[in-house]
Amino acid sequence: MTVTLEVACRYCLQTELVRKHGTGRAGFPRYYCQHCKRTFQYHYRYNAHKPGIKEKIVDMAMNGSGVRDSGRVLKISMNTVIRTLKNSHQDK
Ligand SMILES: [Zn+2]
Repeated sequence: MTVTLEVACRYCLQTELVRKHGTGRAGFPRYYCQHCKRTFQYHYRYNAHKPGIKEKIVDMAMNGSGVRDSGRVLKISMNTVIRTLKNSHQDK
């Protein structure tokens, strides 16, 4: 049986090359991305700070989900959704 790490690299967001890399100072597991050759910690108190959430918010908006729907599905506040969407329009 193969154990798959459900951890995405916070820099390149892929999951296949992420390996465990011991434990951080605060006792949280650390991970190492063999693609980026960087280590990172995967402990986030709020969903909105997780890698990929921003992309999901934008995705949902593109697909016609309202701000309230996105917030409910992703378990983050409406304000966070609005702020993320505003920020994501910067490069357009
Ligand atoms: Zn990476």
